[in-house]
Amino acid sequence: MTDTHCPYCSLQCGMTLSRKGPRLEVSERSFPVNEGALCRKGWTAAGLRGSRERLTTPMVRDRATGEWSAATWDEALDLIATKLSALRDENGADANAVFGGGGLTNEKAYQLGKFARVALGTSQIDYNGRWCMSSAASAGNQAFGVDRGLPFPLADIEQTDVCVLVGSNLAETMPPAARHLDRLRENGGRVVVIDPRLTPTGERADLFLQPVPGTDLPLALGVLHLLDAAGAVDEDYIAERTTGFEDVRRSVAAWWPEMVERVTGVEASQVRELASLLANAEKVMVLTARGAEQHAQGTATVLAWLNVALALGMPGKAYAGYGCLTGQGNGQGGREHGQKADQLPGYRMIDDPAARAHVAAVWGVDPETIPGKGRSAYELLDALGTPEGPKSLLVFGSNIVVSAPNANHIAARLADLDLLVVADMVMSETAALADVVLPVTQWAEETGTMTNLEGRVILRNQAISAPDGVRNDLDIIAGLATRLGAASTWSTDPAEIFDELRAATKGGKADYSGITYDRIRDEDGVFWPCPEGSEGTPRMFADEFFHADGRARFIDVAHRGPAEQPTADYPLHLTTGRVLAQYQSGAQTRRIKDLPDEGAFVELHPLLADRVGAHDGDPVVVRTPRGEMKAPARIVTTIRPDTVFVPFHWVGANKLTNDALDPSSRMPEFKVCAAAVSA
Ligand code: SF4
Repeated sequence: MTDTHCPYCSLQCGMTLSRKGPRLEVSERSFPVNEGALCRKGWTAAGLRGSRERLTTPMVRDRATGEWSAATWDEALDLIATKLSALRDENGADANAVFGGGGLTNEKAYQLGKFARVALGTSQIDYNGRWCMSSAASAGNQAFGVDRGLPFPLADIEQTDVCVLVGSNLAETMPPAARHLDRLRENGGRVVVIDPRLTPTGERADLFLQPVPGTDLPLALGVLHLLDAAGAVDEDYIAERTTGFEDVRRSVAAWWPEMVERVTGVEASQVRELASLLANAEKVMVLTARGAEQHAQGTATVLAWLNVALALGMPGKAYAGYGCLTGQGNGQGGREHGQKADQLPGYRMIDDPAARAHVAAVWGVDPETIPGKGRSAYELLDALGTPEGPKSLLVFGSNIVVSAPNANHIAARLADLDLLVVADMVMSETAALADVVLPVTQWAEETGTMTNLEGRVILRNQAISAPDGVRNDLDIIAGLATRLGAASTWSTDPAEIFDELRAATKGGKADYSGITYDRIRDEDGVFWPCPEGSEGTPRMFADEFFHADGRARFIDVAHRGPAEQPTADYPLHLTTGRVLAQYQSGAQTRRIKDLPDEGAFVELHPLLADRVGAHDGDPVVVRTPRGEMKAPARIVTTIRPDTVFVPFHWVGANKLTNDALDPSSRMPEFKVCAAAVSA
């Protein structure tokens, strides 16, 4: 029996794996985040182990014929290294690019960032976490001086007075977390949910607000206006612990409830009700998720809600504050250790000379050889195969052609590459387009750390050996680095790499130097920041924020609206999201036979269905300026009549989504675009 954690979402629920012959069985175990509970995905996670679709040998595709042939590992790695070297010699180091994932362990994320900068010498690395919580990360950095999804343990929800969830469907996406909302209500607290769809989370709410997609920001402005007008802001906290409130106070003054109603569609009386709830609460917790964050004004939207929390004096107060409910399993750790285009391990900025010197010393290289800031995830993909862009792409832990916005365009960019390499467990939709596919281990077959949505560093323990022919991503990275003649050392032992990571993060904002595998095992997780000798930091900001003056920043933000507004041809809003039984692009969960694979559907309101002549279960076509898809209609009263919803776990939804980017986080606008529906 091996104690470990679920392979999927950012809760990283604890579980135990037992071997039954060649099979694995999941059972519950006590872990603070899930207390033994698992969702359907967690219970069935071992199913992929027995999938006949599991790849067990490297595959090389003949471009002329499209035929695949098996290769040995040496043949595959030699081929890749030779091609990467040639592209670098012909076009410069930035001709090669790397795309990582928010599901990779910290050790892999760290090693991949190092591989890009040291072995390839390229600045062109980013990862799919850019499309997850980067707007909240950008907002947290601006307001608090640091970004940790939740700066407090998740269970703190139970002890707050009012919990406001903006764009989160946690009851469906991470069901064990919903118990905290239930207990909060049992304790007499109130739950507020803001979402264009009434989801299982909204059904738990004492107050449910259903704004037009893309208008969470003006809703926050209106709430703060009412709080200020009522004298409900915490003037002492604002004076002692923050800067910048006067600008925000002036700009929210225009947002009367009736004005908010006109822009958001939320009745003025509900805006007043929310403000009144917050004004009368001692402890308020504001939590955002993808619904608020995946917008071209995602950072500003998060900042607007963060301003509400700050004005009420909540961040740093026990059982209160602001947090982001990160989505991917290692969405948090994945962005701390160097996969991001602008960052080095420990949340160090890549253009900071001191940061470069520190990390270069750990890597044993000259700081001058570390490249500068590269392109963000979408911009990197958008540049592939263009005269100025990368000619090759190595993909680890990501299924781009399902998960990227404007996916038809991105598939075309991939086709223009000289070399596409995908490391994956199965022939995903992206792997199917590759020149070389490398079969990799899955979570139960490897050891490594993850950092969950609370900043709690946990350890996944290997429970079973990998099938013959399959390798760990760390082996692939080391094999390529060696072939490329890279400087530095390239361990394949996760514990050794974690020790190197600890040194690289030492003194950084996300300091892991005091965390060891033994401590994680003994304590069932350790919260960063954790300098050597520290117990770790479950709750942040009690005394000061991470800016040099110790104060938080109010950032004045304005509502611009979605990048694409409805038109006569595209009169509706399209929004996308998740269903309980599937995870991310579905590459894993769609292959688990015990999980229902219902396929994509189009959710629409009966009024809209009547207007377009759609019937429940019959196919409808959704069109946007970027593409179209056909899927069965699901007619529900829980969605706004002006909005359609499509889940993104299957090919289709992201052919429609808009690639407009947030100016700060470079987050694409997944959550709203203009659309038309026909029966
Ligand atoms: Fe827990 Fe998330 Fe895994 Fe479900 S998918 S068991 S909520 S970690």
